[in-house]
Amino acid sequence: MNLFPLFVDLRSRPVLLVGGGTVAERKARLLLEAGAHLSVGAPTLTPTLEGWRDAGRIVHLPGDFQAHWLQGQRLVIAATDDIAVNQEVAAAAETHNVFVNVVDDAELSSFQVPAIVDRSPLVIAISSGGAAPMLARKVRERLEATLEHSLGPLARLLEGFRGRIRARFPDLAQRRRFYDELWRGEVARLVEQAQPEDASQALSAALEQPDGATAGSVTLVGAGPGNPELLTLAALRALSTADVILFDRLVQADILAMARRDAVFIDVGKEGGGTHVPQERTHELLLEYARTGAHVVRLKGGDPFVFGRGGEEIEFLHAHGVPYRVIPGITAALACAAYTGVPLTHRNHAQSLRLLTAHCNTDFGDEDWAALAVGRQTLAVYMGVRALPVLREKLLTHGAQPDTPFVLVENASLPQQRTVCGTLAELVELATQHAVQSPALLILGPTAQYAQQLHWYGAPPLTNA
Ligand code: SAH
Repeated sequence: MNLFPLFVDLRSRPVLLVGGGTVAERKARLLLEAGAHLSVGAPTLTPTLEGWRDAGRIVHLPGDFQAHWLQGQRLVIAATDDIAVNQEVAAAAETHNVFVNVVDDAELSSFQVPAIVDRSPLVIAISSGGAAPMLARKVRERLEATLEHSLGPLARLLEGFRGRIRARFPDLAQRRRFYDELWRGEVARLVEQAQPEDASQALSAALEQPDGATAGSVTLVGAGPGNPELLTLAALRALSTADVILFDRLVQADILAMARRDAVFIDVGKEGGGTHVPQERTHELLLEYARTGAHVVRLKGGDPFVFGRGGEEIEFLHAHGVPYRVIPGITAALACAAYTGVPLTHRNHAQSLRLLTAHCNTDFGDEDWAALAVGRQTLAVYMGVRALPVLREKLLTHGAQPDTPFVLVENASLPQQRTVCGTLAELVELATQHAVQSPALLILGPTAQYAQQLHWYGAPPLTNA
């Protein structure tokens, strides 16, 4: 380690910034946030820096760099684009025993300003010791994406409780377990929902429990259409902290592979038309696991609230007093549209979108067929391919145009995606000819015509050869 990492308290301490351009302005902003008493030495300032000078937030030292500016300073940052000036600042800083950073010049610097991820009061600093600042930036981007923004408020809440937690769990291992639980449980959840008072109460309550345990919970998570890239950050976080994961048939193995390794995985997937684990049993499992204090993820294909029975599940959890939350996912209709270049609404062609499904693969129930058959709208039909003949017959009988374009998408967003295009009149024959298999979704309506032209993912669309 060439550099010793440290966090410096700059509040009310004198710091000198040499340079008055945009880079200097960026540094000045950070230094002011840290509460430094900031002097900016430069012949001219950016308008923002001028504003800060006029508001008395910084002191302006006008003109070219003078070595005596360094007197009494704790740190100096040189942010000019003139190498000679930067060298002069660095040399003068050495003479005055002041730590110096020259922006983008590790050689001239005696300290580095790391890349940071700011979840104040939690701050992560990343440095490559000047060797590869771009790499440090990449790491920062990754951390930005994976660390929830509620970490800051959570850290602030814990700050107030530190003494109590320490007194309640003098044993380090016990304390660690408590914090681990806190991280994933109700308290963190309430902080995330910006309910600091409730979070504080929940934390107090947890401290009064005999073993400091908090209640279990269930998170309904939408896994999206299959491609792991389409998971939300929230879904990824839920998966990585779950104790138990109940998943559906449509959830891909590589999504499960992103979950916590030592979680308990339970397949409650539906097979074909029937259910291999009945819905009631899924409800019971959710309840049983949550009651053991576990954090359960109920992982569903697409979005939990689009033909996913998510509503029934939270109704059940609500009735049994189990805390729950719902993380939306990209539903199949949105994925199929995006991955075939078919807009679901279009100023000139389609003003509304309807999502519908065939119950039990072939039966549509009491649909309002006349309303579904009219033009200027898009139908997205979730279903087994077996329902296509009924669908076509009903729509045509109710006045749909036989030349209405369709796109039928199998395994949307996955490398094996297949797309079939044509008109309503030839829908059934084309699906049969190309042996379209589940999971597949039908988009029917004027915008489906775009697939032939704007399709961009995977193999080109199959048509009536
Ligand atoms: N909750 C899910 C839908 C569950 S119903 C969602 O929001 O997407 C299951 C149906 O979704 C399948 O029969 C199929 O019509 C559709 N489906 C799911 N994933 C799909 C995919 N990758 N490609 C095409 N259709 C898909």
